[in-house]
Amino acid sequence: MAKKENRLVVTLECTECKRRNYTTEKNKKNDTARIELKKYCPWDRKHTMHRETK
Ligand SMILES: [Zn+2]
Repeated sequence: MAKKENRLVVTLECTECKRRNYTTEKNKKNDTARIELKKYCPWDRKHTMHRETK
């Protein structure tokens, strides 16, 4: 059972309140650029753009 090493854990930060609400995984090969996802922010109590942080 060899583990694949293409998965990379990234943190998603709300672009409005700058809080880090989510973590996700991305494929190193397919997603080299920073990713942005529309997610629900419990602090803003609405959907906002969440951006990958380092
Ligand atoms: Zn927010």
